[in-house]
Amino acid sequence: MTDYRLYIDGEFCEASDGGRFDSVNPANGQVWATAPAATEADVDRAVVAARRALTGGDWATMSATNRGRLLFELADRVAGRASHLGEIETRDTGKLAVETRGQSAYVADYYRYYAGLADKIQGDTLPIDKPDLHVFTIREPVGVVAAIVPWNAEMFLTATKVGPALAAGNTVVIKASEEAPAPLLEFAEVVHEVGFPPGVINLITGFGEPCGRALTSHPLVSRVAFTGGVETARRVVENTAQNFAHLSLELGGKSPILIFNDADLEGAVNGAVAGNFGASGQSCVAGSRVFVQAGIHDEFLERLIGRAEAIRIGDPLHEDTQMGPLATEAQRDRIEAVVAESRDQGATVHTGGKRPEGFDTGWYFEPTVLGCDSQSIRSTQVELFGPVMSVLTFESEEEAVAMANDSVFGLGAGVFTTDVGRAHRVAKAVHSGIVWVNTYRAISPVAPFGGFGQSGHGREAGIDTIYDYTRTKTVWINTSEDPMANPFVMR
Ligand code: NDP
Repeated sequence: MTDYRLYIDGEFCEASDGGRFDSVNPANGQVWATAPAATEADVDRAVVAARRALTGGDWATMSATNRGRLLFELADRVAGRASHLGEIETRDTGKLAVETRGQSAYVADYYRYYAGLADKIQGDTLPIDKPDLHVFTIREPVGVVAAIVPWNAEMFLTATKVGPALAAGNTVVIKASEEAPAPLLEFAEVVHEVGFPPGVINLITGFGEPCGRALTSHPLVSRVAFTGGVETARRVVENTAQNFAHLSLELGGKSPILIFNDADLEGAVNGAVAGNFGASGQSCVAGSRVFVQAGIHDEFLERLIGRAEAIRIGDPLHEDTQMGPLATEAQRDRIEAVVAESRDQGATVHTGGKRPEGFDTGWYFEPTVLGCDSQSIRSTQVELFGPVMSVLTFESEEEAVAMANDSVFGLGAGVFTTDVGRAHRVAKAVHSGIVWVNTYRAISPVAPFGGFGQSGHGREAGIDTIYDYTRTKTVWINTSEDPMANPFVMR
């Protein structure tokens, strides 16, 4: 059993009232760690520490190049500890260790990318339309950044916020999900070793209420970077409205995968499998609406079912396991309920749809393929965050695009075709922030990531994100030898 501590102002500490909560291993339902439940007072302490670090001391006066050096050091230490950090994430979330270890190592590249950008943030000199005035802009840090992350990819979603925030000179308070507090508190050890000035990075764990609410509505927080579900996002919008904090939202999705008659079938099946059964489907970009053109529907379905049924379910720590459990019992129960409702509405369960045999403990669910004849069926509408895909057919490209766009979400989309013209047409027509053609779920620090509509706004990763963590100051300088003119004498 590991008892974690909060990391505030450069020190490890308990919650102010000593409160703690359990963290459960989804593979066996056992409590394996405890974490402090941060109170409003703890949130305030973390934000005040972050504000202090921003306005005075080593961080406030550090050159951008040296900020970059610290981030490079952080990257190297995360990479060096990737295997351990990945394993912790697996214990807390049930995600496959082979995936979490690899992801933790790749997270280092996100820090490296932003480390390199730290001293490339520049203002402009403006070609101003007035004589004797020299006008330029400065990009300043925006202030204290609150980062709120969900449980499903904590190390990664922390890096996409902390990397640009620190590179731009801000300070941060990060709140982990109550479902998976451990990865972030392990990360705190790495942060501490790097030697950031106290208060630059603060890591807290606790519940949405009061901890998340107190953080996102704190008057000293200038910027909130939120990743999570739509309902929570609505509360965060209300919270940030108190102080008009700048907000980015990375929310859920109901992403479509469009598979045309001319597609390479093997690649398309791989896309659907990766998009739905990778991470047990607990991915914001899960391609859970799969649209298949009528000419290849039956063959595609047959291959897909074969692949789904061959997936090895098991302990996520084992190297040969291909699909682990869901992160929470509530999540497994909800998926079961939606699958049952969809079946009642006419969906055909081609495979899966139930708990796998032989797993008496842990929150496992079989890879599930539902055949749906319309998007009025519940499984095609709600984000399930589990290994369940709904397969539908279409006749024409126009119909496929219309069906894909019939959603309030707009995060990812997959297109499988060998027709290059169609690839471009559909990529342009699809209403989503990311389109993958003949691939799926690829990510990079270099490539902007984010959604349209109810999938949120703002982007993470990519070069422009760094400006999202700055504010522009415009400076006007009178270069004339004469004093400023009397405003009541017109020239
Ligand atoms: P939630 O929305 O339940 O929680 C997200 C975070 O918000 C958690 O840290 C949670 O804390 C916190 N929170 C809860 N209430 C409040 C509040 N009132 N104020 C501030 N923060 C609060 O999402 P899940 O953790 O269940 O994660 C799954 C969701 O995340 C899915 O919808 C998924 O699509 C989305 N997601 C989006 C991604 C993207 O990049 N677009 C990437 C990954 C996931 P606590 O856990 O303590 O309640």
